[in-house]
Amino acid sequence: MAAPRRRQVELRTMTTLGVGGPAELWEVASEAELREATQAPYRVIGAGSNLLVADRGIGERVIKLGPEYQDLALFTGQIDLWLGAATPLPGLVRRSAEAGLSGLEGLLGVPAVLGGAVAMNAGTRFGCMADVVQEVELFVAGELHRLPASALAMRYRHTELPQGAIITRVRLRLTPSTTERVKALLDQVDAARQGQPKVKSAGCAFKNPPSDSAGRLIDQAGLKGLTVGRAMVSLEHGNFIVNLGGATARDVCTLLSIIRRRVPGLELEWQLWGFEEGECAAA
Ligand SMILES: Cc1cc2nc3c(=O)[nH]c(=O)nc-3n(C[C@H](O)[C@H](O)[C@H](O)COP(=O)(O)OP(=O)(O)OC[C@H]3O[C@@H](n4cnc5c(N)ncnc54)[C@H](O)[C@@H]3O)c2cc1C
Repeated sequence: MAAPRRRQVELRTMTTLGVGGPAELWEVASEAELREATQAPYRVIGAGSNLLVADRGIGERVIKLGPEYQDLALFTGQIDLWLGAATPLPGLVRRSAEAGLSGLEGLLGVPAVLGGAVAMNAGTRFGCMADVVQEVELFVAGELHRLPASALAMRYRHTELPQGAIITRVRLRLTPSTTERVKALLDQVDAARQGQPKVKSAGCAFKNPPSDSAGRLIDQAGLKGLTVGRAMVSLEHGNFIVNLGGATARDVCTLLSIIRRRVPGLELEWQLWGFEEGECAAA
């Protein structure tokens, strides 16, 4: 019987920020392999685009869904369909635009896979995953279950999943439109993203406070360009921390702590892996 593919990795090579130490990666291809991989403490990684991982790495197994969970090829313009959770979101956004289907435009430029995008309820002011997710298939406590989106309490950058649940498949429902209309909205989303840095980052570090923007507050506090080691508050967008090349988690945590002291009340959007309670980004 096939077994999960296992190897030692440096998580800096698996995160868009390019920070993070060693872990054991378990790449799974099936339900049986998920069952084997979840026999010891684990975490699940998608595209690694919302993660800050400690320099010392993490002791838990890191589970990644293999190509068996990538279903971009299955998407040929259906409005209602199940897709594997490792399906890359950018490809899906592009393909649905080509098919004249609406619903995913607000996700343009989010470098996630489907499972990670649902887990975070990724989105922008133009729309989020909650608008299109109908149902999820979850691997939890050794079994696959299906839950309707209404059971996930999806809200701003938050989805409520059962403890330890791994999203394996997602049912989306798109809305028939025209390629021209979808592309017009994509152009708007693209224009709104123009102020964002193109170098290594993990997207917005903090959630926006109600009716304000974390980036604007950080900018107003004069923190753009603040540099610790090889990490910097982006000059283009105050809520992005960029890796200038060779940044450590310690550099990034120091920046996060300074920002939180200078702009009280900000809540982290990033997921922190491998830190002790209060070790990173204490205000
Ligand atoms: C350049 C850039 C731009 C970005 N722009 C945006 C934006 O506009 N809007 C936005 O919302 N975000 C944005 N982000 C952040 C990020 O892309 C999103 O948070 C995204 O949803 C993370 O998906 P991922 O697949 O990379 O998940 P990861 O970063 O790998 O994981 C994030 C969390 O999801 C969990 N998770 C991942 N896969 C699964 C699964 N299969 N089952 C259960 N849990 C899972 C992980 O355990 C972790 O807790 C941006 C990031 C970058 C680098």
